[in-house]
Amino acid sequence: MTNEELWQAALSEIELSISRANFITWFKQTSIQSNINGHITISVPNGFAKEWLENKFNSHILHSLKNLQNDIRSISCVIATPKDTVLRREAMVDAIVAPQKQHQITQNQKTTVINPTYSTQPIQQINIENNLNPKYTFENFVVGGNNELARAACFAVSQNLGKIYNPLFLYGGVGLGKTHLIQSIGNEILKRDPNFRVKYITSERFTATLIDALQNQKINEFKEYYQKIDILIIDDIQFISGKEKTQEEFFHIFNYLYQLNKQIVLSSDRPPKEIQILEERLRSRFEGGMIADVSNPDLETRIAILKKKAFTENIQINDETLLFIATNIKNNIRELEGALNRIIVASQLTNAEITKDFAVGQLSEIISSGKKKGVTHKHIIKTVSSFYEINPDDLIAKNRKKEIVKPRQVVMYLLRNELEFSFPGIGEKMGGRDHTTAIHAYEKITKLLLTDEKLQKEIITIQEQLYKIV
Ligand code: ADP
Ligand code: MG
Repeated sequence: MTNEELWQAALSEIELSISRANFITWFKQTSIQSNINGHITISVPNGFAKEWLENKFNSHILHSLKNLQNDIRSISCVIATPKDTVLRREAMVDAIVAPQKQHQITQNQKTTVINPTYSTQPIQQINIENNLNPKYTFENFVVGGNNELARAACFAVSQNLGKIYNPLFLYGGVGLGKTHLIQSIGNEILKRDPNFRVKYITSERFTATLIDALQNQKINEFKEYYQKIDILIIDDIQFISGKEKTQEEFFHIFNYLYQLNKQIVLSSDRPPKEIQILEERLRSRFEGGMIADVSNPDLETRIAILKKKAFTENIQINDETLLFIATNIKNNIRELEGALNRIIVASQLTNAEITKDFAVGQLSEIISSGKKKGVTHKHIIKTVSSFYEINPDDLIAKNRKKEIVKPRQVVMYLLRNELEFSFPGIGEKMGGRDHTTAIHAYEKITKLLLTDEKLQKEIITIQEQLYKIV
């Protein structure tokens, strides 16, 4: 394994165990500089990253690296000179990271990296840097009930720029496909017309370049630059909350482009009315076009996303394994992809076939960490009995009433799946049943879940209720 592969694999694991904000803040622009006698030297972009990685994330990093190569004993960080700083994880880190790179270097290292956008060239000669990640396309976006409207709105916009929905405002939780969709608009347009001036930027980056421009007396260039854009896509607009100057400049740019029927697309983690400290005139602009939301994907969509991803990567994964991943990782597509990546990388590193058991082993840490929320077998029995409207005692008792058999098997399945009980342990909690009964129940439900949509929905609802009551 090369240093780069090792670091990529470690990062995929770290990414799953810390918050996204932390991951992006501290791990972008990092790489392994050397790996000598069990000591890893990590190249980082600045002193802050060095301090954090060596102190706060030391054990995280070491743990992930050791999992991949067990003779690794220690790590340290060195600050890279800007010319060494290569963004190595474009494929895995969100496109948000890329635009921030130059700013990070100039801000933190006070070197003289020239930002091409704000260089001294006359503005007319400057190309609009679109910042799009070509991997975000409509073709590889899986449509489900959770994102149908948003996807349709984005696609429609890409076909009718500035005409039907202006602005288009997309909102929804983290990792649900907003960035993917809004960038798909840009990529779709460029496919038709490579000369179209598409600009994708995060609101944080927008703010940072605005501040740069103000400090360097280049505000006119800044304005001119944005006035030349044909479609302006701003991601995570919620971050302009409370930033007065940014809001003011953005308002003018917005109006200018809008009057010329230029398309504006915005994304946010919440609807306009919930963005705090936002000038009223901006809020009403945001609400003046089309607002579409993306929500959590259902099981079917999650499976479809995994399938598509496995297909793209040319990896064979059976339905049982996909179902296992999709049932256990529910809230966020980024995590879903992360889990799949982790399994793929691990299987490649160890040359192991991807089976459900293999996936269970790889994901046990992530899944159980979500589960250690105080759920007990009593919670499971209570939730299942109230869901199926039966008496909890009947679940334990030795009767074979048909209406009890299935809920009882569901309880046993959940004891295993949610709490990782051993089969004898399950037998004991279920009124002293034999462990073979527990195995049978677990296997039966697992198998049924592959095809029985009603049961899939029931289990998901029960799981949701379960984690609500604790
Ligand atoms: P957000 O911007 O809402 O936080 P992203 O657009 O960054 O989320 O999505 C997170 C990851 O999940 C990306 O890699 C994206 O490609 C993928 N993703 C999200 N939704 C879908 C989908 N419906 N089909 C395929 N991939 C998706
Ligand atoms: Mg995003």
